[in-house]
Amino acid sequence: MIYKIKTGIVLLVFATVFQYLSYGSEPPVKNANPKYVFLFIGDGMGVSHVALTEAVLASRESKTGGRQLNMTGFPVVSLAMTHAKNRFVTGSAAAGTALASGTKTSINTIGMDSARLRPLYSIAARAKAKGMKVGIITTVSIDHATPSAFYAHQPDRNMYYEIGEQLIKSRFDYFGGGGFKYPKGKKRNQPDLYEQAKTSGFQIISAKQPFDTVTSRSLPLMVVNPVLSDDADMPYQIDITNESFSLSQIVKKGIEVLNNPAGFFMMVEGGKIDWAAHANDAGAVVGEVLELDKAIGHALEFYSKHPDETLIIVTADHETGGLTLGYAVTKYETNFALIDHQKASHDAFEGKLKAYKKRTPVHQVQFDSVMRMVAADFGLGAEIKLNDWEKEQLREAFMASMSKEKVSLMKEENTMLYDNYDPVAVMARKILAHKAGVGWTTWAHTGIPVPVMAKGTGQQLFDGWIDNTDIPRNIALLLDLPEIK
Ligand SMILES: [Zn+2]
Repeated sequence: MIYKIKTGIVLLVFATVFQYLSYGSEPPVKNANPKYVFLFIGDGMGVSHVALTEAVLASRESKTGGRQLNMTGFPVVSLAMTHAKNRFVTGSAAAGTALASGTKTSINTIGMDSARLRPLYSIAARAKAKGMKVGIITTVSIDHATPSAFYAHQPDRNMYYEIGEQLIKSRFDYFGGGGFKYPKGKKRNQPDLYEQAKTSGFQIISAKQPFDTVTSRSLPLMVVNPVLSDDADMPYQIDITNESFSLSQIVKKGIEVLNNPAGFFMMVEGGKIDWAAHANDAGAVVGEVLELDKAIGHALEFYSKHPDETLIIVTADHETGGLTLGYAVTKYETNFALIDHQKASHDAFEGKLKAYKKRTPVHQVQFDSVMRMVAADFGLGAEIKLNDWEKEQLREAFMASMSKEKVSLMKEENTMLYDNYDPVAVMARKILAHKAGVGWTTWAHTGIPVPVMAKGTGQQLFDGWIDNTDIPRNIALLLDLPEIK
């Protein structure tokens, strides 16, 4: 025992001296002067979303465990608390504001204090004020909660048109990904935001050919994905076609055009990790995490050329879905390779079901026809055998999905089973996940801490069990950002 204590003291003294020798008398932050900062935010990306993606990759090589992603190879890996000022389980507006400005705010508030009286300025706005170039990139609409927290100040995240106006006024250099959700306002009676952006100097790129040829001379630039869904978001990676850009392509182009001697700040959001997780869609989650990681790969390429001046942070605004690895029925067994049998996102599959219902009179809808669709997109009942209980669950979901009369479920039971999603589509992806050993506890967010991964100059500041507000505060400190009054 005494020997152990003595060894402990010796090690402690040694560690202190070693630290002193490493950093001299200056605190570590003084040696770190990043000029290029990347902040990647996986919306809804908890530790499990990352671990599931690694486990699926490993299963492709018939291995147990995880195939390491770019982000998990970072030297500093820590956790951040995410709660909002007025709610433990946060939302993307409050969490985005915390990650952008370093101040906790209330649910649904964008870039303002919790009383919604005073604007909070983001590290992006402060970087711009310092003379750096700024890029904001997302897979969802560019006026969505997370990106808008970096350039807008609104009491409610749903004020999309007003947020869009503030995007144009921000004078940031590069916006990329989704478009404006309501370019002419909710009632379609306001001046078009794209036209306003052009008038104020933005070049708008929404086709492949001009995208390939743009340079830093084209700034300020807005890259709007050529393929957008109803919510002005990019397609899920699992559904993506050749006409679409990918997140990583938009990030790669962003690095190219923003690179300049005064430095840049770039925020990149994997926005549909959250949407997939809300739908408890494991296959779509894996596709979105992989694409975000590919984008991180481009930041790492840049880092390798400027290692002393680059800092890359990867984190999440909150966890979504209560995703976990391990499920009640499968107990200790997992089979992550099953996830790869999924061929369409929840959105795409529900679209197919809707089309089937539309073209088929109610008295002619057939369980077997729907099961053939389930087999084609999830492998269930085809390559993957179903047991009697699973078939029964699918039959009940079919009844709930197809019947004109409301199936007599209690409100809570309906929420637990299907929420607002199509019952057959929900049951197909739940059965696939459960057979793989993957569980979900909610259709909403959870309050568990999220991963923080840091690499580059100043990385040590992000170590520990930290708060989400510490992240922008540390970035502001490292970049010596001016305050905006
Ligand atoms: Zn969400």
